[in-house]
Amino acid sequence: MPADPAPRPDAPLLAAHGIESGYGKVQVLWGAELAVAERASVVLLGPNGAGKTTLLKVLLGLMPAWRGGITFAGTDITAWPSDRRVRAGMAYMSEMGVFTALSIEENLAIGGQFAQPAALRRRLEVLYAAFPDLAARRTAAAGSLSGGQRKMLGIAKALAGSPRLLVMDEPSAGLSPLFVGQVIAILRQFHRDGLALLIAEQNVKFLDLADHVITLEGGRTGFSGSVAALMEDDRLHRAYFGL
Ligand code: ATP
Repeated sequence: MPADPAPRPDAPLLAAHGIESGYGKVQVLWGAELAVAERASVVLLGPNGAGKTTLLKVLLGLMPAWRGGITFAGTDITAWPSDRRVRAGMAYMSEMGVFTALSIEENLAIGGQFAQPAALRRRLEVLYAAFPDLAARRTAAAGSLSGGQRKMLGIAKALAGSPRLLVMDEPSAGLSPLFVGQVIAILRQFHRDGLALLIAEQNVKFLDLADHVITLEGGRTGFSGSVAALMEDDRLHRAYFGL
């Protein structure tokens, strides 16, 4: 295997250019562009079927990019398998993130499987401090948790490997407003400590967390800018806030 070219120190943490992808012969992404700066938090906003999940999967290496390129920390990772991306510091939290037959602690250990044992033990204590509901039930099966707690476990599991970037697909899905508030508070805490976030959402509540917003419509990224700039755009304001 040829050596990877030297990383570019000034590059964003994650950058994707001209991403095209889809399912079989059905093209879903048509040249998506995206960048997440180091320690930034980016919300990817788009309606149902826009291609948000597809784009996140391509970024994580769970689906191939038909065209385009992806860099992480300045290194071209377009051809890397998913596990190599995770080892490099990317984590993915999807709907199906938790193993219900395994205990909370076993789920967290799977999330941190690439960490050294001592580092993983320290990390679990950080996570238990941040997620007291999980700390109280370490040996309980994940399947015994409520939907909201399971989502929390999914987030904790994704954080167990101490990623530099957490990529999340609709963390608000199926959550009560109370849990949405808790999820946002936890993410804010880790973000303050340096974790970069890329969150695909339809729930505009998550814009509270965003340093930057990117819209995806019909497989194409459009607007890219601050939340304030999004609010000032009449069409986007109507589309996402319904006013
Ligand atoms: P949602 O919020 O509804 O999940 P999304 O923005 O995440 O929307 P995707 O799930 O990426 O959108 O779907 C984009 C398009 O790809 C949709 O038209 C969808 O029907 C199609 N699609 C998604 N998964 C598959 C699949 N496994 N096979 C074929 N088409 C798919």
